[in-house]
Parts: sequence; C-alpha cells; structure tokens
Amino acid sequence: MKIESKTVHWGDRRKAGNFTPVTTPIYTAASYVYESMDQLDRVFALEESGPSYARYDNPTRSALEELVRELESGAGAIACASGMIGIHTALLAALLDRPKRVVAANMMYGATTGLLMNVLGPMGVETAHVDPCDLTAFEAALTEAKTGAVIVETIANPLLRVPALDKIAALCRAADVPLIVDNTFATPLLVRPLELGASMVCHSATKYLAGHGDVLGGVIVADQANYDALRTLSRTIGPVMGPFESYLTLRGIKTLALRIERQCANACKVASWLATHPRAERTFFPGDPKHPDSETIARLFPPNRFGGLVSFELKGAGRAEVFRFMEKLKMVVRATSLGDVHTLILYPAMASHRDLSPKHRERLGIRDNLMRISVGIEAVEDIVADLDQALS
Ligand SMILES: *Cc1c(COP(=O)(O)O)cnc(C)c1O
Repeated sequence: MKIESKTVHWGDRRKAGNFTPVTTPIYTAASYVYESMDQLDRVFALEESGPSYARYDNPTRSALEELVRELESGAGAIACASGMIGIHTALLAALLDRPKRVVAANMMYGATTGLLMNVLGPMGVETAHVDPCDLTAFEAALTEAKTGAVIVETIANPLLRVPALDKIAALCRAADVPLIVDNTFATPLLVRPLELGASMVCHSATKYLAGHGDVLGGVIVADQANYDALRTLSRTIGPVMGPFESYLTLRGIKTLALRIERQCANACKVASWLATHPRAERTFFPGDPKHPDSETIARLFPPNRFGGLVSFELKGAGRAEVFRFMEKLKMVVRATSLGDVHTLILYPAMASHRDLSPKHRERLGIRDNLMRISVGIEAVEDIVADLDQALS
C-alpha cells in the first residue's frame, strides 16, 4: 500500500464486539475489564495486546500510534501530550543506560536547545552543539568523547538547512550511538529517517500531522532496538497523549498527503515570487536550486517536494519594520506554530528563538529582519496578494 493510502486507512477499523466502527471512537475509560483474571494477567504481562490502564494503553491512542508507526517505518510508537515531552522522553530513553553526553545540531527548535541546556544540563548531561551540515565537525564531536545520543532536525529551524541524514546515521551506527531525528518540518511524506538509519523519530503532532491548529501533541517512533526501553519508560512516567487529541490527530492525518501536496506546491510559488521581490533581501527555501544543501535535498527528498516552509529577510528592516509588515497582513495569520491549513507567519527573534541572546542568533545567521512563513492550503494567489499588499 502506498503511503497516501496508509494515511487514510492505517490504525483504524478495529473490531469492537460484533461490529467494526469505520473510524476509531474516543475511549475515555481510565481502566479496562476482561472476562477472566488470567487474560488481564496476560495483558499486564504484555503477552496479549489490549488496554489495562490509560497510562499504559488507550485504544484511541493505540490507533494513532499504529498509524504513525507505519508511516515512519518504525517498530513501535508512543503518542505524547506535546512535541517537547516526546523529545524529552526519547532523550531520556536513549541516555538511560548510555554515557550522559549528547551531540546536538546547533540550529534547532528553541525549546529543544532549552531542554538540553536548562533541564538536562543541570542534571549532568553534557551537550556538544555542532553544525549538522558540517560532517567533519559532526564526526569529530561524536568521537572526541563517549556519547549517548545524537539529535538533529530533518529541516533545521529556521534557515531551512538540510543535513545529510543518511551520512549522519551511518556515522552514528558506526559509533553505536542512537540518532534521534525531529522530523516535524518534513513529515514522513518527504523523509522517513528510520529508513535512512536513524533510531528514533520525533514529531510535534501540533504541526503538520494534526494540521488544523487545534491540537497540542507529539509522537515518538522507534526502531526495535530502542522501542522496548522507550515503552517501559513511557509506562512509568506517562508522557502520553489524551484520547481527544489522539482522535483529532488521527482525523487530521487522513488528509496529510493532500495537504502536503498543496502546501509544497504553494510554497514553491511563494518562494520564487519572494526571491525576485525587491523588498526581500534573502529567501531561504529547500527548493532553491542554489540552496547550500541542494545535493542532499535531491538525494533525500521526493522530486519537486521541498516542504511548506519559506523564510525571508525584509530588506533593511529592524524589529519595528518587521512588526509593521506583519501587522499589515490581512489573511496570513501572525501566530506561532506551523503546518496548519492556514498560512502562518512567525518572527523567530521574538518567538521560536527569543531565548537566545542577540549574539547567539547572529552567530547562527538568524537576523532581526528574518521571518518564517508556513504556507497553507489556500489559493496561492491570495497568499501572494496578501504578502504583496503588506510589502508595498
Ligand atoms: C513545535 C516544535 C516542537 C515542539 O512541539 P510542541 O508540540 O510545541 O511541544 C519541536 N520541534 C519542532 C521542529 C517544532 O516545530
């Protein structure tokens, strides 16, 4: 079955008594009864599948987990209450019985950097921050001290660089260090990191997977070697997604392939329009033939699909001019987040990368005139017209 068909069918239509609901119901029960105590005993022992207690399993959540596990080609998945608790749980699972050192991409979602520096750091986990597009530096960081985990993003925040995941995965396999990939920006429709050799994949389901701006959630998908530790940890600490959010995410994913197709096509048009606009200083888009990682992109991405994100700098602008431009937008939504059906625009210096010092942002190349657009599914003419009137 092709991935577009899996998004519609997988996980759903489990038999419930003598009928089968066409969509998975929202199960709110905290615990479950079985005919015999022997059967409940087997369920508790994980010898028979089935829910016993909501921190362990929930049928709505299980349907979602089965769907995303299949889309990402994993051995098992855990749906979580947020993308961040998913990333935290994946890192904990990796570091549990490994050296307390992480090699992390230097360009990442702000809260992921915060998690490493402000939460795991004080607990004794050392982090080496490396440019994920510099393989030599990456290999050096990986081998200069015993490492417990590596974490990178498929498409790096917010300048949309694309590291060579296949080569990074090979380095990690050689060093026997689990590679965790945040695949939020790419989705399994563009890249499936586990197929390239990664050990765990994390998503903020809040973004493309749920896709409608009405869910906070995350998913971790793991290979067989890492799933057992992850599952045991999850059953103990309970980072799990609730049944209502699980239902909405499952429903959202049914249109993921359609949305991605439209968002990718719209983003190509928005990016090429911006690239020639006199008020856009530089545009950043993985589909740009002059993109610094174009070779990697051609190797890892499907043809003509570059994701729905476009970043650009407003020529000569500071914070005040950026604010004025954003306030002039009538349809494009000025809000944090991405991957929704509606087009969103975000100002990294104020939102996703707010907690970094201006110097740190400067070092990463995130200037005060940079904005990131998450292109939606609207008619592209309307998106371009709104940007155009706000730029004039
Ligand atoms: C939003 C986001 C997260 C965090 O997810 P939440 O659902 O907000 O907790 C992590 N990584 C990336 C790339 C994101 O965009």
